[in-house]
Amino acid sequence: MENLGDIKLKLLYPEDHIQDAVRRLADRISDDYEGEKLHLIIVLKGAFIFAADLARRLRLPVTFDFIRLSSYCGMETTGDVSMINDCITPVRGKHLLVVEDIVDTGTSLQFLLQWLVRNEPKSLRVCALIDKRGRRRMPVVVDYAGIVCDDGFLVGYGLDLDERCRELPGIYEVVTNQLSGGLDDSPM
Ligand code: 5GP
Ligand code: MG
Repeated sequence: MENLGDIKLKLLYPEDHIQDAVRRLADRISDDYEGEKLHLIIVLKGAFIFAADLARRLRLPVTFDFIRLSSYCGMETTGDVSMINDCITPVRGKHLLVVEDIVDTGTSLQFLLQWLVRNEPKSLRVCALIDKRGRRRMPVVVDYAGIVCDDGFLVGYGLDLDERCRELPGIYEVVTNQLSGGLDDSPM
């Protein structure tokens, strides 16, 4: 158990566990897209560390775009998704892979996929480091899931609690947080 003053964290996935999961994902994706180019759509901010590790393990030529969605307020999703940065290069005719940190209810992913489909990519798949499958409310498919887990609010390896904890190399569950409730509406 780690104690960051007002936040208590329980280690769920240490660094080597995460790196093994990233390596397995990169191998599967590299095999599936062999001979093709892949365009990564990275969902900021949470996926930035995962995407950097994943991209460096892919045995494919890749290009990048970054988008930013917002729906979270503290540890609760508001269910109302908006796109903060939709300024991406044209995706028509490209093989797209959305790179997400966590898919939880699926609300933000569904919103993003619908938006991307309208721009006529050649193909569209999703890679998420963590798939909280049991909490799904929207019928979205995660084609490549690194770690499947049930519940709990996770931080570390890019994931934040109100902008804190992203830099931790492992992934932790927030056990108590005296700040929860009155948190601002910061983008993910
Ligand atoms: P969804 O729309 O699927 O409910 O949630 C989408 C986004 O909420 C995820 O991509 C992630 O950025 C954020 N999120 C969901 N669960 C967690 C969590 O356990 N910890 C953190 N830090 N963010 C989460
Ligand atoms: Mg995310």
